[in-house]
Amino acid sequence: MQHGNAPASPLVGRVALLGAALVVATLGLGARQVAPSAPTTTTTAGSGTPATAPARGRLLVFSKTASFRHQSIPDGIKAIKDLLGDRYDVDATEDSAVFTADNLARYRAVIFLSTTGDILNDEQQKAFQGYIAAGGGYAGVHAAADTEHTWPWYGDLVGAYFKTHPNIQPALVRVEDRSHRSTRMLPAEWRRTDEWYVYNRNPRGRVKVLANLDDSTIEGATMGGDHPIAWYHEFEGGRSWYTGGGHTSESYTEDLFRKHLEGGILWAAGAADTAPQDAERVPSGAAPK
Ligand SMILES: [Zn+2]
Repeated sequence: MQHGNAPASPLVGRVALLGAALVVATLGLGARQVAPSAPTTTTTAGSGTPATAPARGRLLVFSKTASFRHQSIPDGIKAIKDLLGDRYDVDATEDSAVFTADNLARYRAVIFLSTTGDILNDEQQKAFQGYIAAGGGYAGVHAAADTEHTWPWYGDLVGAYFKTHPNIQPALVRVEDRSHRSTRMLPAEWRRTDEWYVYNRNPRGRVKVLANLDDSTIEGATMGGDHPIAWYHEFEGGRSWYTGGGHTSESYTEDLFRKHLEGGILWAAGAADTAPQDAERVPSGAAPK
């Protein structure tokens, strides 16, 4: 799956792959055998978009918690729906059972919104790995880094795990990459209040750092002078974006944090970057609203 074709949904790629696989399987049966009826489904893939494909993109917000639970989760869900509901159907769930290959293939991106602890079983993990490998998108918010500590693949997907945090306090965030759609609206020096995470490792080198916390402006959250707090990377065929902010309910009413979040999700979803935060709007006439 190529990222260059990011706007193409993972579903389309997956259907194409499936079609190819079916063709191969059919050929493999050999001409001497009577073809079973099942491979005729190949025509579905060959004819393009299946009839059941949604007209709009779909996003999945996942907020299951197995340890600490953030009270801001409903605020985060509401913000994501408010920000992206005009372009996407947004499903929010805490049910791990939605992590199947078929179901995940419906989504442009899966947002882990302050998830915590061990929340996916082995099969669900495998389905999510397959989703990312097929070009899927991941957006992690805040405690998404405090999730699945014993699943190394997930740690690599996010970039780093949560280690500790000091009290909520104002800090200076230095936005070091203002070309990304999740940061280009931000000031180079972004002052805001949140609960600032310290991570178990510096993700720089594994990921592209977007913003860095100035440790000298906070108490108790040092990472040795280099403290990435938002980043992104392409990972094993898919896209991963993470922001350390979002502990507080107030975060989700902050204009700049909301835009940061919206841009990160759009990037994770592979949305065409045609205008600032304006991709994938349904053409007029097709929009139900
Ligand atoms: Zn928190």
